[in-house]
Amino acid sequence: MSKPLADHKGPSVVRLLGHPVGHSLSPIIQNAAFKHRGLAVTYEVRDIEPQDLPHAVDELRASDCLGANITVPHKEEVLRLLDEIEAEAARVGAVNTVVNRDGILAGHNTDLQGFSIALRDLLHQDAAGLKFLVLGAGGAARAVLAALLQERAAYVYVANRCLERAEALCRAARGWGDTPCLALSLASACTVAAECDVIVNATSIGLPQSVKDLPLDVDTLHRGQVLFDLVYGPGTTPMVLAATAKGLRATDGKAMLVQQAALSYELWTGTDAPLEIMRGSIGC
Ligand code: NDP
Repeated sequence: MSKPLADHKGPSVVRLLGHPVGHSLSPIIQNAAFKHRGLAVTYEVRDIEPQDLPHAVDELRASDCLGANITVPHKEEVLRLLDEIEAEAARVGAVNTVVNRDGILAGHNTDLQGFSIALRDLLHQDAAGLKFLVLGAGGAARAVLAALLQERAAYVYVANRCLERAEALCRAARGWGDTPCLALSLASACTVAAECDVIVNATSIGLPQSVKDLPLDVDTLHRGQVLFDLVYGPGTTPMVLAATAKGLRATDGKAMLVQQAALSYELWTGTDAPLEIMRGSIGC
């Protein structure tokens, strides 16, 4: 458990380390939560290029720093810079939350549980028995796959631009559960999309300042399927817009973002997160 916030003297900070980070809604969510609870904590955004990550992580050891969120593209690289890795983060091989306890940095992954909670809200059930198509094989896709295997999904296709990365992820997933996982190139995802119950977009496509094209031809999708787009921005994502127009039930990444943010808040402060305030801060 994190050091209780009451042990910190004076104002404290939590940082977000990523590149790019300009689009992030995390500062709005976390600052709303800290303010609501009357805590003197500021959530600061730092745009950190890969070569500057070791120094930025080292700075988290300062006594006024409760920890950090880690986002694209540092979630995997950060593992080797931390002192302790919590079991779930080690299993997934990705860290999105760092907790500073007296200069010792511990890495956690709240994406996995945050995705599970948001998925259950969307489906009104867990992943057990359902067939999934996961687009992407980066840090977020690893957390998604770990969650789906933990919940005993029936089958998971993992489609990625770089096929080797999808294959490596499916190999790693053999140790996470019994669900069969098959790697595909992103270009072949359309051949299996129609047979899946749920499509999860865990690529960066649709991220503002990144690629805006859709990761999948939505004409391969049909009513009755569900789309979970992990991407989020100030408005609806291109993927959610296209899927909704085809009659699918769809959500963007804000639902998961709030859930993982609440879990991170609880790790930093050792207290319950004000979930409704966090949801309301970004209108979801
Ligand atoms: P990574 O950088 O680890 O992975 C990026 C993924 O996107 C890889 O699979 C990569 O494929 C793919 N990709 C990137 N650009 C392209 C492109 N032009 N064409 C095809 N594929 C592409 O990022 P993360 O996994 O951490 O994050 C992925 C997305 O999920 C981001 O948009 C992030 O904001 C979102 N996210 C949302 C969360 C939430 O709470 N809602 C939580 C975590 C992430 P390749 O391997 O071939 O390069």
